[in-house]
Amino acid sequence: MIVTDKKPRQEVLDALKDYHKVFVIGCGSCAAASRTGGEDECREWVDELKKNGKEPTGHFIPEETCHVFLLKSMLRQSEPAAGSDVFLVLSCGAGVQAVSAATDKPVVAGLNSMFLGTTYRAGEFLKYCSLCGSCVLSSTAGICPVTRCPKGLLNGPCGGMVNGKCEVDSDMKCVWVEIYERLKSRNKEKILTMVNKPKSYGNIRHQKVEPKKLSKKAL
Ligand code: SF4
Ligand code: SF4
Repeated sequence: MIVTDKKPRQEVLDALKDYHKVFVIGCGSCAAASRTGGEDECREWVDELKKNGKEPTGHFIPEETCHVFLLKSMLRQSEPAAGSDVFLVLSCGAGVQAVSAATDKPVVAGLNSMFLGTTYRAGEFLKYCSLCGSCVLSSTAGICPVTRCPKGLLNGPCGGMVNGKCEVDSDMKCVWVEIYERLKSRNKEKILTMVNKPKSYGNIRHQKVEPKKLSKKAL
């Protein structure tokens, strides 16, 4: 899931300064799980808007805010949304852009998108993937060095590793030591004699132009 964090209140209020009627859109998927864009957070913003002299016209929470057609349908049916000057969107950047694609009204982002996270337990997330577009997990024992090594090294450990600890964060085990130990326990450590080549980030660019089925307006 995409892990999000709340933007500072004042930053959001500054972005809303030219608008009076504000409709709040949350996200029932990742942002609700992050506790940044669910029912409670939408209501918090409705109260905050009132305190700051704005007129909140209402709110809704799509199941997935990163879904342009779903948003278009919900917006068509919502009079409070139609009567607003601006949408305050409590979702990841993909959701904010989906709202922007689904309407001509201005949008204001209420959250910062942080990373693609693995849920450890409710409300706690591990930063495990950076969406690099060329996954190496099959040869690294299912541990991502691009994301979990602070230097993002495709081959390691670096020269700074001391007694199995990371030089950037001495509380943390070196990710490449973890990879080696996990592979060794499976008698697969020879994989590490192969050097990982630099990544082709061209893959990411290609993925961005995939959604051919969206209308020109949505794109
Ligand atoms: S290598 Fe790491 S960052 Fe890249 S796709 Fe795999 S898990 Fe994600
Ligand atoms: S010590 Fe290990 S985890 Fe830390 S930066 Fe070097 S290779 Fe990465």
